[in-house]
Amino acid sequence: MDYLGVRIPTIIKDTVAVRCDACLEVIQGTPWRLNILDVVAAETPASWAGHAAINPGPFEFHRDASHVRAWMRERGYLFCRKGEVREIMRPIPLPAGEEGSPRYGLCDGIHRDDHELIPA
Ligand SMILES: [Zn+2]
Ligand SMILES: [Zn+2]
Repeated sequence: MDYLGVRIPTIIKDTVAVRCDACLEVIQGTPWRLNILDVVAAETPASWAGHAAINPGPFEFHRDASHVRAWMRERGYLFCRKGEVREIMRPIPLPAGEEGSPRYGLCDGIHRDDHELIPA
C-alpha cells in the first residue's frame, strides 16, 4: 500500500511466532532471512555426489550475524571471511570431510579473489 508516497510493506500477521533457526528463541520484529543459492556447476563433471541437496532456506534468524554464524557452525558450514553474512549466500563445494559427507563453505560472493574459509 501507499501512504503519502511512502511505500508501507504489508504487515503479515503470523499466528505462529517465528523462531530463530540458530537459538530457537522467538524473533520480535523482522527476522533476518537467509537463502542459500544453488551450487554453481563446477568445471568438473558432476560426480555421484554432485547433486547433494542443500536446503536453500529461507532460514530465519535474529538480526544479528552471530546467530547466523552459530547456525553455520552447527551445520558444519565454513564461512568466507572475505565476505559478510548477507541474505543470500553462495555455497562453495569443498572436499568431503573424513566421514565422507559433502562440505560447503558459504560466501556472499561479492569479492572476486580466492575465498578464505574459516570455521563459522
Ligand atoms: Zn537467534
Ligand atoms: Zn569468499
